Amino acid sequence: MALTQLEMRELPLFRKLRHSVGKAVADFGLIQEGDRIAVAVSGGKDSYTMLLLLDELRRRAPVRFEITALTIDSGYQGFRSDVIEAFIKTLGIPGHLERTNHYDIISEKRRPGSSYCSICARLKRGALYGLAESLGCNKLALGHHSDDFIETLLLNQFFVGSLKAMSANMLADNGKTTVIRPLVYVAEEEIIRFSQRAALPVVCCRCPVCGSADLQRKRMKNLLTKLEKDIPHIKNSMLKALSNVHPRHLLDQRLRMLNQTGTPADTPV
Ligand code: SF4
Repeated sequence: MALTQLEMRELPLFRKLRHSVGKAVADFGLIQEGDRIAVAVSGGKDSYTMLLLLDELRRRAPVRFEITALTIDSGYQGFRSDVIEAFIKTLGIPGHLERTNHYDIISEKRRPGSSYCSICARLKRGALYGLAESLGCNKLALGHHSDDFIETLLLNQFFVGSLKAMSANMLADNGKTTVIRPLVYVAEEEIIRFSQRAALPVVCCRCPVCGSADLQRKRMKNLLTKLEKDIPHIKNSMLKALSNVHPRHLLDQRLRMLNQTGTPADTPV
């Protein structure tokens, strides 16, 4: 059985994670007075942890803001949305569950051999934006952690030929919803330990590719694990690199204007 919120708050690891989220909120200006934040809760370890941390912050922060948990049921048979709803209820946080026919759409539209995840994630993201907006939420919190940022950076470099990761605070393409990622400073390994210690009621998405999806991301994960043996601080260094960009020492022609001006910090290495 999951620990009570009171018991979770007493865990030293929870305090550490709270500190990391507080730092992200301060560094990237993630939360302002009066914000209504939709928190995407899939029933996985990351989103549960984010929900608990944002709720804790809401109680303690000097600014007033509201949170609402949003869950999208994509229609995969056996998905235990009832477990998620029950857990959110015990936390006393308002929650909304949207049942969709995404599985039918994917089955109909997906071309043989194409990625299951890309269409599924796109549909889910669209549903989250729509639901957040209809509930009057100006922000949508997503549970990407620091490993997601680093792996995305590598994926884009290795397979797309682009130097980009994710933003911690960005206006979405719909021009209305600001997407925030409060777990940017939290490592996946910490979330795993916390979710096990707190016995969070993690549920499986029950999609046809669950567990075998995103093989390239897994390759990046394995690569980082190997490199970490020789370079223990590699992940911290890579995350730091994302906030220490030297545009003059890159090759993108669109940065030429910047290159002519430069910045005081932009010294050659
Ligand atoms: S793993 Fe399954 S639920 Fe997750 S994005 Fe891929 S298809 Fe969708």
